[in-house]
Amino acid sequence: MRPFDYARAHDAADAIQRGSATGARYVAGGTTLIDLMKLEVETPSHVIDVNALPSAEPALSQISDLPGGGVRIGSLARMSDTAWDSRVRERYPMLSQSLLLAASGQLRNMASIGGNILQRTRCWYFRDTVMPCNKREPGTGCSALHGINRIHAVLGTSEHCIATHPSDLAVALAALDATVRVRGAGGVERAIPFAEFHVLPDDHPERETTLRHGELITAIDVPALALARRSLYRKVRDRASFAFALASAAVAVDLAGGTIRDARVALGGVGTKPWRSREAEQALAGKPATAATFRDAAEIAMRGAVPQKDNAFKIELAKRTLVQALTEVTA
Ligand code: SF4
Repeated sequence: MRPFDYARAHDAADAIQRGSATGARYVAGGTTLIDLMKLEVETPSHVIDVNALPSAEPALSQISDLPGGGVRIGSLARMSDTAWDSRVRERYPMLSQSLLLAASGQLRNMASIGGNILQRTRCWYFRDTVMPCNKREPGTGCSALHGINRIHAVLGTSEHCIATHPSDLAVALAALDATVRVRGAGGVERAIPFAEFHVLPDDHPERETTLRHGELITAIDVPALALARRSLYRKVRDRASFAFALASAAVAVDLAGGTIRDARVALGGVGTKPWRSREAEQALAGKPATAATFRDAAEIAMRGAVPQKDNAFKIELAKRTLVQALTEVTA
C-alpha cells in the first residue's frame, strides 16, 4: 500500500473542501476502497473519512419518509440498516433482498449505501496491476477481451472494456427509478436520475459515473411506487453466498386478474452498468402472466447481447433468471 494522508472530516462542507483536492478519495465503510488500495489499484494521496458527518447532519445516515410514500436513504446508512428497515422491506422488497444477497453480515454492517453504488468492477485484470486494463490505466488495453472472460458483461460492452457492474443494490435502484442526491463545492446540490448515474464504458471505461470530483453523495431517493410492493430480486452465482452475480433480475409487477398491468425489470451481472430493460417492461404490460409472456420478455431483455469467448452461457442464464423471477413474483 502506498503512503497517503488521512483526515476525518467533521461536516459535509469540510469533507467536500478536502475531497475536492487532487488525488482525494472519500472513505466510508472502506469495504471497496481499502481493498483496492492494498492491491495498489487505487492510489489516493488523500483519504477523507466521512463517517463522522452524521454527528453534524444526522440525515446523512438516516432513512426517512418522502412526501407521497417514497423513502430517502442517507448515503451513510449501512447496508444492514437499510435492508432491515421496515419501510424498505414493505415498500420495496427487491431493494431489501438485493442488499441481503449482496454480502456477508459483517460487510453489510460496514458498507455504506453511497459506497455500494460506487463499487468498482470485480474484473480480475482490473485488480491485477501487472495486467493491461483500460479502466485502471486508460490506453493500456483490455486484458479481458482475449483473456478469461467468463464473468464479464454481454450488454453495454465496448471494444475498450467488458467489465460488469458489481452492485446488486444498483440493479434494484435502476428498476425503481431512484435519484442520487449529491452535494459539491459551495454546497451546490444536484439530483441525478439513477439511469444517468452510471455510464457505459464506450471510449472511456475509467469513467464509471456522472459524479464530479469532490461531489459527495448525500442520499438516494426512492420514489413511491405501488407495484414495488410486489417485487423480487433473484440472484444466480457460483456459490450460495458471498459471491457476485453471474446473472440477476430485479422485477416488480402490477397484477390484476392474471394480467400484468405494469412491470419493472432490471438485470445485473450481465451489463457494464445496472441494466434496466424498458423494452421487456413494455413486452410484459397488458399481457397474461404466463410462462410464454415471461420468456418473450426475457428474449427481448437480452436482445443485442454480445457474448465473449467464455461467457455466452450468461445470455441464456439471464433469460432463465428473469423468467424465474417473474414466475415467482406473479405466483
Ligand atoms: Fe480492464 Fe474493463 Fe478490460 Fe477488465 S474488462 S481488463 S476492467 S478494461
